[in-house]
Amino acid sequence: MENLVRDTVILGTGCSGLTAAIYAGRANLKPLVIEGHEPGGQLSITTLVENFPGFPDGIQGPELIDNMRKQAARFGAEYMAGHLVSADLTHRPFKLNFGRQTVLTQTLIIASGASARWLGLPSEKALVGYGVSSCATCDGFFFKGKPITVIGGGDSAMEEALFLTRFATRVTLIHRREHFRASKIMLDRARQHEKIEFLANTVVEEVQDVSKKEVTSLKLRNVKTNHIWDFPTSAMFLGIGHEPNAKMFAGQLDMDQDGYLKTHDFVFTKIPGVFACGDVQDRRYRQAITAAGSGCAAAMEVEKFLEEIG
Ligand code: NAP
Repeated sequence: MENLVRDTVILGTGCSGLTAAIYAGRANLKPLVIEGHEPGGQLSITTLVENFPGFPDGIQGPELIDNMRKQAARFGAEYMAGHLVSADLTHRPFKLNFGRQTVLTQTLIIASGASARWLGLPSEKALVGYGVSSCATCDGFFFKGKPITVIGGGDSAMEEALFLTRFATRVTLIHRREHFRASKIMLDRARQHEKIEFLANTVVEEVQDVSKKEVTSLKLRNVKTNHIWDFPTSAMFLGIGHEPNAKMFAGQLDMDQDGYLKTHDFVFTKIPGVFACGDVQDRRYRQAITAAGSGCAAAMEVEKFLEEIG
């Protein structure tokens, strides 16, 4: 691997990375696609995707991703499991350090996405996998016939709450403010669901009971009245947004205050030959279709760049 210089390496197998892989594959660039710790990205842990064009009845997120993966492989994309430890982008070929392996490449497409955000409470951390989860599709089933709580006020929280009604006796959606970020259609659906109840202006102070290694209740606080109480529940699902996976490029690429990679003209970073697409650089739209669009653009720019450098 050390001596082989790749035309392009794509970091990430979410919607943007796989779209880039399809385009780069069809341009005969034999892309090496790196599959990190969350293969398939956000779509692989979602349920029905109803807004990706071309599927009038919707399509399950994992199925959509699996299709893209196969489609890219058909055009010569090669997959490698790996976690990028560091990257030397000071000169070409760029040097990517994956621990036991180093990969050299003329161009790099960063499509490393964003990972679920946590509240940051020690009790929350201690109970991850024991009733605390950021993935309703993965873990909802374990709480069949039990009351479940979802945290957040955006579309992710609404989607999780709606999905969890399949299993839960009751879903309580807890949000720290009065107003919700969620789109009207998602908010209305959640509001109209008989199993979902809303608790606004409320924050989680602690997840209990760490000593029992299971979630039994949440210590909640009303931010307006400061009233604190114990709220019995069997699980807490986080739907509070995501953090961009770009820390490994700190100091080499520009980032905004929240760690999203800064790009200009859609997918260009400040280093020629390094492009970024999808959720790692998009804090505004963050949709499957926009991620796919920017993945396509990044692969087309890679093709142009390689042509230019001969
Ligand atoms: P989001 O829109 O950023 O919403 C995150 C929510 O979590 C906000 O309500 C925020 O509260 C809350 N939050 C953040 N940090 C918190 C903390 N530490 N403690 C308590 N609450 C916290 O994120 P998202 O819901 O993941 O959506 C991201 C993007 O994906 C959006 O563009 C959305 O439309 C899209 N999406 C679409 C669908 C769909 O169409 N089916 C499904 C999922 C996501 P504040 O409001 O107070 O900041």
